Amino acid sequence: MKANVSSEDQADARPELRIPATAVSRGIGIGPAVLLDGMQCVAHKSDLAPAQIENEIERFRSAVRRAGGELTKLIASDKTESPESASGIFGVHLLILEGSSFITNIESLIHDQRANADWAVREVAKDFAERQKSVADEHLRDKYLDVQDVADRIIRALGAQTQPYAAAPGSVLIVSELMPSRLMDLAKSGPTAVISEHGGWTSHTSILARELKLPVVTGVKNIDRVVSVGDAIIVDGFDGQIIIRPTQDTINHFVGFSNTQQTSNEIPAADGNPLRTLDGHEITIRANADLPYAYQIGARSGAKGIGLYRSEVILSQFRRFPAEAEQTAVYRQIAKLVGDAGVRIRTFDISADQIDGREAARERNPSLGLRSIRLSLTDPSHFRTQVRAILQAAHQNTVDIVLPMISGVFDVLRLIGIIDDERANLKREGILIGDPRIGAMIEIPSAVMTANEIARHVDFLCLGTNDLVQYLLAVDRDNETVAGWYQTLHPAVIRAIGEVIAAGNNAGIPVAICGEIAGSAFYVPLLIGIGARELSMNVNSIPQIRHLISGIAVTEAAQLVESIKKYETADEIECVLRAHYLKTWNHLFPAGLLSSKYPQ
Ligand code: PEP
Ligand code: MG
Repeated sequence: MKANVSSEDQADARPELRIPATAVSRGIGIGPAVLLDGMQCVAHKSDLAPAQIENEIERFRSAVRRAGGELTKLIASDKTESPESASGIFGVHLLILEGSSFITNIESLIHDQRANADWAVREVAKDFAERQKSVADEHLRDKYLDVQDVADRIIRALGAQTQPYAAAPGSVLIVSELMPSRLMDLAKSGPTAVISEHGGWTSHTSILARELKLPVVTGVKNIDRVVSVGDAIIVDGFDGQIIIRPTQDTINHFVGFSNTQQTSNEIPAADGNPLRTLDGHEITIRANADLPYAYQIGARSGAKGIGLYRSEVILSQFRRFPAEAEQTAVYRQIAKLVGDAGVRIRTFDISADQIDGREAARERNPSLGLRSIRLSLTDPSHFRTQVRAILQAAHQNTVDIVLPMISGVFDVLRLIGIIDDERANLKREGILIGDPRIGAMIEIPSAVMTANEIARHVDFLCLGTNDLVQYLLAVDRDNETVAGWYQTLHPAVIRAIGEVIAAGNNAGIPVAICGEIAGSAFYVPLLIGIGARELSMNVNSIPQIRHLISGIAVTEAAQLVESIKKYETADEIECVLRAHYLKTWNHLFPAGLLSSKYPQ
């Protein structure tokens, strides 16, 4: 790469300054700093006369229609100019615009406060964003920028003046936070990197930046206090740091490093052929994906369908339980996108307080309480609605049902009873339905111990190792103070995985591993050696895992598993695995993985 930094920048007498940051999109960018402020449209309040309210709501509705038209065009133009995932991301924006309480709340605010639409949009967006930021799940939390982005689009459609977002090509852009649409605008002027105060790995902006191959680091506070416009900056999206006013030596080092990374880090794209180990065993990789854009990324990397669709995601999109028809539309949309490879929809895996938000519903021990299918069985109305929607979406589509938190055959039979009941009801009502296969999540020790019996009643098993480790070792997966006891390599966990795979084989049904370990290079050889042939993972992990699997042999992985059986602790097993990987498969692992603590 060439550094876009002038000799004047390098003659700067101020010292080089290094600031740690979070790398969310890999790569090196070098260029002069451009500070971008005021990334949101401003909207002030004005009071309306009662007679104006009707007109204001109509003005708002036509702005929403215009915004919807813009999004539809962006989605349609995706194949030519935009990165492929943009259509998915703007599809989510369209969903916010068309199918959520966001719009009805704005209309109520215009009406109740007799306020102008611009202000009402900004207020409701602020409220949504605040609530979104307090969600525990990092993946969902990061989506608050999408709501703000949609709000900005409506405010612009209402006639707000906005400055064009462009910067000289080759600049390093510094922003407080960046929404997906703005990133798309800015990307057209060819920046070399972006530094943002806010935004995590899973935010849509970061996902887009990775698609655009634009290096981005975040989490850098008050950078405007130490950087002036035009200062030379290096953004290191590998190690997560920014270097302000780098010396010529530093620039040379990073230019050289960037060039070698570009050539050595490329993993060939999926070629459409089945993925096989060196000794010819086929391994199926599916995606853990809840949104269309995520699956599009996964499919490009070779994912065969969605192995885990965490349907709770739609509760956050709609901010309520969507009606049967709304759910059917969402499930059908994802099913059509995925095609024959199919989508496995896991029924709502939520706790009681997520249903009504009441303090009273909070339990002393929610992981062991009234959650997931226990809620479905205690108050089946939401479950029935969801099942009816899935059955309808399965008409002419490959859609399967996954039942979470199964403790034994008792749960499975009762849930299948309700599903059959709704199947019969829909048929009686003359509504067209499909015939989804039914799978059980195995994530509770009692389900492991009765996996042979459960396997007789279902079509496939999904091994949820995130919860299995939690419940098997009695260690809260979200409590950092006990993280040392959350040992994925505990001999009991390895044995449990083996038993579930054997139960699937005995019954002649597939077993998919869908916890985080399925997408973590350190565990994959172990899983293959134990007998796993289906892995469902985060879409970002797929290229690396595919590369790894095609470079190992099942026979060797199985020997490795045999060799660890005599060890009694997770630490010993980790040492043996690391030593074997370093000796035999070092070339297949991402840089640094084997030299540090294995990832959880
Ligand atoms: C699991 O428990 O491993 C799993 C895949 O589901 P979740 O992480 O949603 O509990
Ligand atoms: Mg789980």
